[in-house]
Amino acid sequence: MDSFSESYAEARAKFLAAARDAGARIHSYGRDDVVGLAGEPLLCDVAVLGAERGERAAIAITGTHGVEGYAGSAVLHHWLTNRGRIKDDIQIVLVHAINPWAFSHKTRTTENNVDLNRNFIRDNIGYERQNPGYDSLAPFFDFDPTDARRALDAYRGYKAHLDRNGWHLENEMLEGQCNRPDGLFYAGKEPEWSNLLFRRIVTEHLGAARTIGFVDWHTGVGSFGEIVYLMFDEPGSAEHAAASRWWNRELQEKSAFKSGSTPKYRGLLCQSIRQELPDARIAGAVVEFGTADDYAIFRGDCLDRWVRFEGREATDAAQFREAYKDIMNPPDPSWRRMVLDEGPAIMDKLIAGVAGW
Ligand SMILES: [Zn+2]
Repeated sequence: MDSFSESYAEARAKFLAAARDAGARIHSYGRDDVVGLAGEPLLCDVAVLGAERGERAAIAITGTHGVEGYAGSAVLHHWLTNRGRIKDDIQIVLVHAINPWAFSHKTRTTENNVDLNRNFIRDNIGYERQNPGYDSLAPFFDFDPTDARRALDAYRGYKAHLDRNGWHLENEMLEGQCNRPDGLFYAGKEPEWSNLLFRRIVTEHLGAARTIGFVDWHTGVGSFGEIVYLMFDEPGSAEHAAASRWWNRELQEKSAFKSGSTPKYRGLLCQSIRQELPDARIAGAVVEFGTADDYAIFRGDCLDRWVRFEGREATDAAQFREAYKDIMNPPDPSWRRMVLDEGPAIMDKLIAGVAGW
């Protein structure tokens, strides 16, 4: 389990050491406006292996949702230290902690409470969208999640409301909102630092690529032990078919979402690869390691938000911060073993898939 870390600084040091040992070219992009939980500097590190400015490229991203990066970082470390020989005709780009502030502070969103995976709105305009679905559910998030009984009451109320009014409202909520800066799934008012940086990484390192495969590592969607592939290309499209083939997802799976369909997200980080490189063909997935049941995730989302705002000065805020980290990144060895067994294999299939597409 050596690939897992307990802090951003530890994860960063492990990633850099493994990338150097693998002979990767390393590019670090730092922040000078904010620091980490322990006062440490915050950087997003990019390791490039294989071809220089290759026509075919695979990119793996970690830490889009901050705290979820602990698993993605472990995958990259384990893959780097156990990888096979990398052919010269493919370029591999590993992005460690695209959202380093949230990775270090063990939270989902940026220092502005922006959910980065709602912030990549096309051409960075249109941050004023209304979301009545979110507004209708917001009252259920307004409770103290450090009181276990109230948390359960709130979740039961939330579920009963959706049973009465339709689970499509949950999908609407998940699509992001722009008018509650202290709420969940907040898309922000402008591109975040990580948004501008990711677009720069794409153009600097993938600018010559004509065929690109990606995986954006996440945790939280799916049951404990489940791996969920979220693909956002239209079923039937060449891109959807390619990614399905790489990971043997051809058979239609039951949706991981209660409404039965995947929310129509706007502002996903992975969608910006196509925005920046419109002439390349691009396929891939957000891959989620499921961590817990729906109630635990609901409470986790509310806990994360509460510690950022109402509970900031609470004496046990740091313990609740760790409790949230454990929901999204379970310490259970069986879960971590699954991440380290399956994650690198998914990386290998991505690279083989891009090479053969
Ligand atoms: Zn996520």
